[in-house]
Amino acid sequence: MDKGLSSFIQNLSLNEQQVLRIEAVSSDAFVLHTERHHSFLPGQVVALTNDRKLPPRLYSLCTSPDEQSLGILFNIKPDGLLTPRLAMVRPGDTIFVSAPFGAFLGDRRPAWWIAAGTGIAPFRSMIRSGLGENNMLIHGSRLLEGFYFRDEFTAFFGDRYVPCCSQEHGDGVYSGRLTSWLRAKKSFDPLMQYYLCGSAEMVVEVRDILLEGGVGLNNIMSEIYF
Ligand SMILES: Cc1cc2nc3c(=O)[nH]c(=O)nc-3n(C[C@H](O)[C@H](O)[C@H](O)COP(=O)(O)OP(=O)(O)OC[C@H]3O[C@@H](n4cnc5c(N)ncnc54)[C@H](O)[C@@H]3O)c2cc1C
Repeated sequence: MDKGLSSFIQNLSLNEQQVLRIEAVSSDAFVLHTERHHSFLPGQVVALTNDRKLPPRLYSLCTSPDEQSLGILFNIKPDGLLTPRLAMVRPGDTIFVSAPFGAFLGDRRPAWWIAAGTGIAPFRSMIRSGLGENNMLIHGSRLLEGFYFRDEFTAFFGDRYVPCCSQEHGDGVYSGRLTSWLRAKKSFDPLMQYYLCGSAEMVVEVRDILLEGGVGLNNIMSEIYF
């Protein structure tokens, strides 16, 4: 991670607050709910840890600013320092959470939202905040169980929700990586906004596909989960 960003995160003031609930949404992913003490904009993140000695990590909020609790979606990185511990927290446990911040913000312009893995989180916050009515949502996952909030997205987007699964086949699911689905399009509406969220690898590859397909850099917004 960039040194400046790392020291920015380490210096954020963290509020001590309680876990309200934690729900499993797949065999290795969870939505953790905690108290909401601030307003925020859909697409923003918080820094969070469950141990003052462990540097906080960033998490997109997956709930809307109108909801009483703050929700974050995370998956366990088996070699990770924080996420295996976070998966063990229980209601009433203490966690340490920053005020929300960040500039990956949705608006009412037509957009394609493109996410890999837990990068779907900000888009869930956006739809729950009244955004995205005519947008496309393209979600990539290795496994079918990684299509978090699938029912909610299907109900909201209908055919404009495109789950792309690279390692399993499923009804209503494109078989292949989301980048293959995008490559098959060849050209893209240059007036559309394109929001990319997830791993650096996915964001860089999708950005190149869009640029080759005639989209200008100013129409591409990225949130990289490092
Ligand atoms: C803006 C932003 C928003 C994010 N939002 C979300 C979100 O909504 N949901 C979500 O799940 N994640 C999100 N992330 C990622 C999240 O911040 C954490 O990086 C992630 O949860 C892993 O945390 P961890 O402590 O378990 O793993 P870490 O301890 O950070 O390790 C992550 C991986 O890197 C490897 N690793 C660690 N140190 C090294 C090293 N020195 N050399 C090589 N490899 C190493 C580990 O083996 C592990 O596989 C976001 C990141 C950013 C930047």
